Amino acid sequence: MAPRLRVLSLLLLSLTTCVRNPATGERMLSLVSKDEEIALGRQGAQDVRQSIGLLDDAKVQEYVARVGLPMAKRSERQDIPWSVQAVDDPVVNAFALPGGPVFVTRGLLTHLNSEAELASVLGHEIAHITARHSVEQLSKAQLAQVGLVVGSVISEDVAKYGGLAAAGLQLLFLKYGRDDERQSDELGFRYMLESGYDVRDAANVFETLGRVGEAAGGGGLPSWLSTHPNPEDRVQAARQRAEQAGVDVSKLKQGRDEYLAMLQGMAYGEDPRQGFFQGSVFLHPGLRFQLTFPQGWKTANQTQAVLGVSPREDAIVGLAPAGKLAPQEALRTFLSQQGIQPLDAAPAGYPPGTAYFQAQTQQGVIRGVTTFLTHAGTTFQLLGYTPAEGLATYDDAFRSTFSSFRELTDAAALAVQPARLELVKLDTAMTVQQFNERHPSTIPVEELALINGVRPGDTLPAGRTVKRVTGGVKLKPSP
Ligand SMILES: [Zn+2]
Repeated sequence: MAPRLRVLSLLLLSLTTCVRNPATGERMLSLVSKDEEIALGRQGAQDVRQSIGLLDDAKVQEYVARVGLPMAKRSERQDIPWSVQAVDDPVVNAFALPGGPVFVTRGLLTHLNSEAELASVLGHEIAHITARHSVEQLSKAQLAQVGLVVGSVISEDVAKYGGLAAAGLQLLFLKYGRDDERQSDELGFRYMLESGYDVRDAANVFETLGRVGEAAGGGGLPSWLSTHPNPEDRVQAARQRAEQAGVDVSKLKQGRDEYLAMLQGMAYGEDPRQGFFQGSVFLHPGLRFQLTFPQGWKTANQTQAVLGVSPREDAIVGLAPAGKLAPQEALRTFLSQQGIQPLDAAPAGYPPGTAYFQAQTQQGVIRGVTTFLTHAGTTFQLLGYTPAEGLATYDDAFRSTFSSFRELTDAAALAVQPARLELVKLDTAMTVQQFNERHPSTIPVEELALINGVRPGDTLPAGRTVKRVTGGVKLKPSP
């Protein structure tokens, strides 16, 4: 028995190294080396940029980097490649990937009201990296998966219709523990203070994030609250920390006006130019096409595909961009993948060049139908699939969706614009409700109060710069 045990413990030793946590000084067992950590974050950041997309606004990118990078570079980990960037997603969130990348969403930026508030969010995320929180959650097996595609056979093509994000994106769904949250709050507070920001603003942020609620939006990103559990009395703890810091708060920077100026004209909420539903019809002004889904199916406009799921959740049909290959070649490539067997060519009613196929997946044998087509210089794939025995049931639904693909020509739909933030400087004091009567917004007054960090009945002082939201379309929910 004894020799065996010895082998086992040697093996364990080779897998784990004991390192000192750079932020906390505690010794910790780590399965992930610094180089692996950096590689992991780099892969994740690339997936984020490809599938969610950076906000296309140099002024905003420059601003968030200017606030975040000095805090990161002054932290306990100066030897990793830090980056701080804004992503174009309406969900309210910020996230940190192992080894340096920090992201904040457009949705979170529109909900903050000062540079100090932004600094508190970024400081908190930086702390998750310095304290190696997400890395510590990863097992070696998970680590091995990142960079590979989810699942095995046909996964990349089929997974994007199943709503499965690229493996690197799974990092974004890791949920921190309450202790990690408390620690990040504390470290973030310190980074903020060392950079001279008004630490009292941290409490505002936690209050705002608490009010935003659990709702996750269209981009496929989780919300802040779903990945950052709320430790008890977080707002209270932030207030106490600020009171006990023993600093002259009048010397600290809040940076309200320059922060708000940065938001002028920023898109607010979902951006319909990236596609929206009118009932079961999906319209994409940016790519100039429309597609009609079966009545009663659940639909979703995701970052990599737009898709519909049958009411019994046993069939999926959708459309996704499919690279640069010409349609015939793309179809041939798809059908020649390992694990995929071409079946007959599809019958009349489907677009020409449509084929049935069968595939072995980890969930069993599926049967589906697919075609590739070129539109506006891009190749798209239409795909429908269901467990093997379901194809007869869903063939009609797949066929009607496939044949509904057409160029979007409706002028109003083509000209659609997102709602945008606009700033108003008050010449007299007024309540949020009075402000909303004088300068109407296209969002409810409760939401308007929330994005301004106040309550609907609160009085806004004269001289205060206030956000309002104008324009946009009323997006009809899918049935
Ligand atoms: Zn957190």
